[in-house]
Amino acid sequence: MTAEIRHDWSLAELKAIHDTPLLELVFQAAAVHRRHHDPREMQVSKLISIKTGACPEDCAYCAQSSRYSTGVAPERLMEKEKVLEIASAAKDAGVSRVCLGAAWRSVRDGEQFDRVLDMVRSVTDMGLEVCCTLGMLTETQARRLEDAGLYAYNHNLDSSAEFYETIITTRTHADRLRTIGSVRQTNVTLCSGGIIGLGESVEDRLKMLKTLAAIQPQPESVPINILSRVPGTPMADNADVPDWDVVRMIATARIVMPASDVRLTAGRAKLSPAVQALCFLAGANSIFSSETEFMLTKAVPSPSYKADQALLAELGLRFREPFSRRDEACGQPDARECLAVEASDIGLATAEPAGVAS
Ligand code: SAM
Ligand code: SF4
Repeated sequence: MTAEIRHDWSLAELKAIHDTPLLELVFQAAAVHRRHHDPREMQVSKLISIKTGACPEDCAYCAQSSRYSTGVAPERLMEKEKVLEIASAAKDAGVSRVCLGAAWRSVRDGEQFDRVLDMVRSVTDMGLEVCCTLGMLTETQARRLEDAGLYAYNHNLDSSAEFYETIITTRTHADRLRTIGSVRQTNVTLCSGGIIGLGESVEDRLKMLKTLAAIQPQPESVPINILSRVPGTPMADNADVPDWDVVRMIATARIVMPASDVRLTAGRAKLSPAVQALCFLAGANSIFSSETEFMLTKAVPSPSYKADQALLAELGLRFREPFSRRDEACGQPDARECLAVEASDIGLATAEPAGVAS
């Protein structure tokens, strides 16, 4: 299985895959998918915004940046009891992973981080995989999350290095890679992907996939978000992403990262069931669902548990059990051994990120 995983895809190869006639592309991606995954299984995750709004970063797509008037009211760090209540309802609805998101630039040691560690321990004890997305992270902080039982850390590259600086000025693509390097020093799995619809070119999308595929081992989870236009942000009037672009992006990600979970993430609520089914056929095997019908904030809609239960039943898909892929290690060798050899090749450094104070 590992023989098929390559880290040295060229841009020309990626473009040839991406531009393959659509049905042929879907067929090839489906074949890769079936060699590495159970095609009847879907991982369903639930996002919980544990700290909403007032983020100092200027990500041009985000409802939670304090730079834009988006109507998202800032909230304090959520109480653990509330997190457990939401996680428990999610588990009852078939969810296997809970992702705790904080609108922070970076993690700061102290009482708030201690409370997040406690949430990670308690939700893990419920028998759920826990993912955190808390912004930039040092290696020491990554180890503390690992010790608390964290299953995954999300840190998206979002786009190509070149395009990144046109959408975010308060941190760099290299900062993102540094945090990914910190996570890769632990056995916490890595969740990293990006967004389409920001105004980037197809080449930017493929450069992002090239960088993700070069990470050794490749991210165990790769979210593909479609921009949800948020009024008040600089991207409020961006053009719609054609459905075919979404299918091509999913299929290309599946082919170049065959063992990873490819996650059809933000923007799914706007896709018809038929387009979602085509994405699942092309290799998307992970989704977010929510009883509130939004993801982290009301600005980004999500299908409901009920709608997703009906969709999965219609398509003959099962909910994946928690931790069922841990032992497979995604068919990839130990993260830390690989990183030591390859870090310099893709600019991954394991030093503490510079200027992490928010
Ligand atoms: N503050 C943390 C960070 O930036 O890493 C975590 C917050 S959240 C998980 C961040 C991700 O959600 C972004 O990297 C982006 O891919 C996605 N996202 C945020 N706003 C979005 C929007 N309006 N449409 C689509 N995706 C969005
Ligand atoms: Fe939004 Fe995260 Fe950017 Fe903050 S760092 S503005 S929460 S995407």
